[in-house]
Amino acid sequence: MTGRVFDIKRYSIHDGPGIRTTVFLKGCSLHCLWCHNPESISPDPELMHRPSRCSRCYACIEACPPGAISKGPGGTIVIDRASCDLCGQCAEACLYDAMQVVGRAMSVDEVVGEVERDRIFFEQSGGGVTFSGGDPLAQPAFLEALLDACRGRNLRTAIDTAGASSNGALERAAAKTDLVLFDLKHMDDGKHIEMTGISNRPILENLEKLAAGPAEVWVRIPVVAGVNDDDESAARMIAFLSPLGTVRRVGLLPYHAGGLEKAARIGRGEDFRKFESPSGERLAAVEAAFRRAGFEVHRGG
Ligand code: SF4
Ligand code: SF4
Repeated sequence: MTGRVFDIKRYSIHDGPGIRTTVFLKGCSLHCLWCHNPESISPDPELMHRPSRCSRCYACIEACPPGAISKGPGGTIVIDRASCDLCGQCAEACLYDAMQVVGRAMSVDEVVGEVERDRIFFEQSGGGVTFSGGDPLAQPAFLEALLDACRGRNLRTAIDTAGASSNGALERAAAKTDLVLFDLKHMDDGKHIEMTGISNRPILENLEKLAAGPAEVWVRIPVVAGVNDDDESAARMIAFLSPLGTVRRVGLLPYHAGGLEKAARIGRGEDFRKFESPSGERLAAVEAAFRRAGFEVHRGG
């Protein structure tokens, strides 16, 4: 079985316990306007151009069969994405790693073979593999096969999910993993729809179901100034999470604008919005509110 992977990052310390290797699967059913991995949202491959690495040698223009690349104002690279068929020949021709097709097909054995190289770090630190995205549940069969293969090789796993999956996919994956990192964005449904494109109802229902089961669940909250860094948003989240009992750990992930540059690299800068990072004062107030309610709070994961 193969799935579509867009990155594998080693030595992560924010995606679960210990030192971890994070495997990013392509595809997500949400479209958060602040997304820090905009190249993760589409399930399909995408062409990414990094101007900061580009030497303007124009080898890519020569290499492109349909002529989808041209020189723009000031010698910049312009991609006609409607003409691009994602053949990858520009990326092969680029000696500067400035052009890349994001999202490659990998088999379960290839992914697990990659992460097994880090086994010694997992064993020394109590770490393991985290399947993230996007939302790894956008490829549910592939995710389950990866989790089975890891368990068969005695590798500890976590999944990092936006929580909107249906048809029992989350419960099945949760039964095969050691930890679920569950993202919570906003308790107000209208605001959730405005910011992510979908209702929060299936997400909240999934979290309630998950918390009633045996899975260990850490909730992670992207904290965005003017969106959910106010006292009322924190209070509503606390009121929802407190009765769930098994959810005792909360990670606060302060927004940063890094996703916007990545969105521009795939030609989708217009689809995302620039927000502000929460002030130190607001972050401290949100953290204090969760601590007062008895939660273990971590910043960054
Ligand atoms: S081949 Fe690479 S470095 Fe050269 S112009 Fe194209 S993207 Fe830039
Ligand atoms: S991926 Fe292929 S078609 Fe698309 S810009 Fe590169 S060379 Fe041209």
